[in-house]
Amino acid sequence: MVYLKSIEADGFKSFANKVDIKFDSGLTAVVGPNGSGKSNITDAIRWVLGEQSARSIRGVKMEDVIFNGTDSRTPMNAAKVKLQLDNQSRTLPVESDDVNIMRKLYRNGDSEYFINDERTRLKEITELFLDSGLGKNAYNIISQGEVESLLKARADERRVLIEEVAGVMKYKKRKKESVKR
Ligand code: ATP
Ligand code: MG
Repeated sequence: MVYLKSIEADGFKSFANKVDIKFDSGLTAVVGPNGSGKSNITDAIRWVLGEQSARSIRGVKMEDVIFNGTDSRTPMNAAKVKLQLDNQSRTLPVESDDVNIMRKLYRNGDSEYFINDERTRLKEITELFLDSGLGKNAYNIISQGEVESLLKARADERRVLIEEVAGVMKYKKRKKESVKR
């Protein structure tokens, strides 16, 4: 299993000071008062995995992820997030025990992506996580309200979600394509 070893954030949302949050392979709970930045951590994970929708990470425009200042601090010019993943299992198709993924965004709109400190494109990051059960849409992040909507969903809607998690969707898609031919 791939697991998250650390998240480094610098200038991302409320993380004006560079933070380096380490995780173990077991369960980690993050606790803190309202507004202290807990959800900003999961936003950072989604963002570095390539999230393109500002709304999904609770913003209006993408620039909203850059630290925008407080009474005592001036806004920053860029946001940076770096994830370090344990890949000893080689679940990700990269020949290294650790894989790091980094994304930077500047106020002028320039965006940069890196895999193992090498400049890359968003497409490469998306492809890296394809079929790994990770990635930004893989239900590895369950946000506030999602549990409730799952419980309230109709049986057929719930089935779609379970099939997605189980990785059945791609086979269904392929079946549909070959039947068409
Ligand atoms: P809750 O317990 O209510 O869910 P939380 O710990 O999840 O709270 P977050 O939503 O992660 O809190 O953090 C919200 C804080 O992040 C707010 O104080 C908000 O001002 C701050 N914040 C968000 N975006 C930025 C930004 N671009 N620059 C500075 N601060 C930001
Ligand atoms: Mg929250």
